[in-house]
Amino acid sequence: IIQLYTPLNWFGTYYRMIQSAFVDMESMFELLTEEKEVSASLKFCFLFFVYRKEILSEVSFTVMPGQTVALVGPSGSGKSTIIRLLFRFYDVQGGCILIDGQDISKVKQNSLRSYVGVVPQDTVLFNDNIRENIRYGRISASDQEVEEAAVAADIHHKILSFPDGYDTEVGERGLKLSGGEKQRVAIARTILKSPRIILLDEATSALDSQTERNIQASLAKVCANHTTLVVAHRLSTIIKADQILVLHDGRIAEQGRSVVCVCVCVCVCVCVCPRASVTLREKNYCKDSNDT
Ligand code: ATP
Repeated sequence: IIQLYTPLNWFGTYYRMIQSAFVDMESMFELLTEEKEVSASLKFCFLFFVYRKEILSEVSFTVMPGQTVALVGPSGSGKSTIIRLLFRFYDVQGGCILIDGQDISKVKQNSLRSYVGVVPQDTVLFNDNIRENIRYGRISASDQEVEEAAVAADIHHKILSFPDGYDTEVGERGLKLSGGEKQRVAIARTILKSPRIILLDEATSALDSQTERNIQASLAKVCANHTTLVVAHRLSTIIKADQILVLHDGRIAEQGRSVVCVCVCVCVCVCVCPRASVTLREKNYCKDSNDT
């Protein structure tokens, strides 16, 4: 027995070492397969931009990874211009925009655009079938991934109601989708693309309550854990944002999440966006139309 003790002891020690190595290896594989960081930080430093007149001046703010910032302000105050500058439709004429600390003017446009997804007000549909129109978000996506994105964007059942389903052609005389449905196609594309930063230009047109709820729900899915910059026209979007920026004449007039800031936003919305007044009335915040 004494002669057997030493080899058995050695065997036990090596067995434990090998077992612990397998456990470490398992944790290493788990770490390797863990999802990549899906959001990025954004920093706007003293933006200055002129078309023919001065459009933006001294616009500075920071968006932390995963945060949603709502841009609010009267028509022409420069909200969409901020979005266009971030997507580099135009280059800034003063100041800079940093993504994760990197100046976007020094990054290749392709690489920038793979980081950023845009859900515009008016989505362009191509003369192809609805499946390919969604797949445009990520050309390599499988049919199943396209359909999963459509489910998440809450447009799947609408597509299935067409006689040819996903194969329905979106030609000039073909598919008729409402503005809200087209925007959900754009949301499905963005879900497929899964960019780190999402730029959303909310539709100004009035939507019925059900469509608005559907769009809000699908947007919540696409924006979750992604850094989002939204040109907000709806009170519900503004209230849910982590940070609100009120623009006036190309400058930041108010910034934050304070009661004052939310009140300024409500005033701006009620003055410039008829849909917000409707929302307030629907929720009985205002007793009659005179209160708006
Ligand atoms: P809205 O809420 O109506 O969309 P906005 O706050 O998004 O307005 P921007 O679209 O950023 O405003 O426009 C800011 C200003 O820049 C406006 O005065 C507009 O007339 C001007 N502008 C926008 N695009 C151009 C252009 N391509 N050429 C010249 N001026 C432009």
